[in-house]
Amino acid sequence: MHATTSAQAPAAIEIVALTKRYASGKPAVDAINLRIASGSYCCLLGPSGCGKSTTLRMIAGHESASSGDILLENRNITDLPAAARGTAMMFQSFALFPHLSALDNVAFSLKMKGVPKAERQAKARDLLERVALGHLAERKPAELSGGQQQRVALARALITQPRVLLLDEPLSALDPFLRIQMRAELRRWQKELGLTFIHVTHSQEEAMALADTMVVMNHGVIEQVGSPHEVYNRPASEFVARFMGGHNVIDTPEGKVGVRTDHLQVALFNAELPWGTQRMQAVVTDVEYQGTYVLIGLQKQGVALSANATAAYSVMVPEAAFAAQPYQVGQSVQLHWTPDQAHPLSVPAPAMAAAA
Ligand code: ADP
Ligand code: MG
Repeated sequence: MHATTSAQAPAAIEIVALTKRYASGKPAVDAINLRIASGSYCCLLGPSGCGKSTTLRMIAGHESASSGDILLENRNITDLPAAARGTAMMFQSFALFPHLSALDNVAFSLKMKGVPKAERQAKARDLLERVALGHLAERKPAELSGGQQQRVALARALITQPRVLLLDEPLSALDPFLRIQMRAELRRWQKELGLTFIHVTHSQEEAMALADTMVVMNHGVIEQVGSPHEVYNRPASEFVARFMGGHNVIDTPEGKVGVRTDHLQVALFNAELPWGTQRMQAVVTDVEYQGTYVLIGLQKQGVALSANATAAYSVMVPEAAFAAQPYQVGQSVQLHWTPDQAHPLSVPAPAMAAAA
């Protein structure tokens, strides 16, 4: 039923009208369409419960689809068993068997398939060499660092020669320092192996750091697909602007617009502003020192905060600029921005229908 896509770059995964209904009520995944380019790092991003893991599990074959199709390199895998799909999964905190050596952890799925010992161990050793762990093959997981465990988990997933590696919050159990190290390593391995990675995360920072393509989900639907730069600089909806952070959502007569916190400007109440700038009166509610910049919280003059979520704003002022003009809580100021810094945000579908 879907349109031909032969003109585009080859897709590792193509998802067509994919839906998952667990019980009555709204579907957990609601007729999503998505193409993931071969050899790319794709992050599925969104708040808890938005349907990321369900989408990933349907691709893996750990969850059945209620309707729709999943194609892997143009092969329809929707109803294939997990082991026959050409995908492999890497889990949160790696889920290694603690009583097995690194080598036996990597060889495990071949053992399950009945591959003879010498052959599976040779393959496992080969993969451990590829992730630079050949010399630690006999160690148990507890005798390896977090980074080394991640590489064992990667080798274990790769032994089935998957075309696509699926990762569900693989870094979320790690402490913040290790998480940043490990994500750099994941990114490096993905590029070196030239494989397609699909990585689920609720962290916009993690997705921005890793992804070639970000897929922002909310309530079982895809809100936006794009590079981190595109999504951050052109959030398609109010939801994306707020979820990504670093943006103000401003009500204008032309509709809601997004303006980055580092593009919105504060000026004294009586300052003369350049011609053509958009402006509004506001009151400073917060001043937070952040090191290289100061974050100023404001609210629209004359609007109670609880009444309107789009009446609260933040502005990042470089440290030196703030030192030259220190604003104070309670001070009346002007907020201003240029039209090219304001991006229209689409209205969610139900509100649009109501307005029509
Ligand atoms: P995410 O990974 O984005 O946090 P999930 O895909 O796990 O979200 O869940 C999406 C929705 O489906 C949630 O409302 C969740 O409660 C529901 N859900 C997930 N798994 C099951 C299940 N096995 N049975 C019933 N409902 C489920
Ligand atoms: Mg999840």
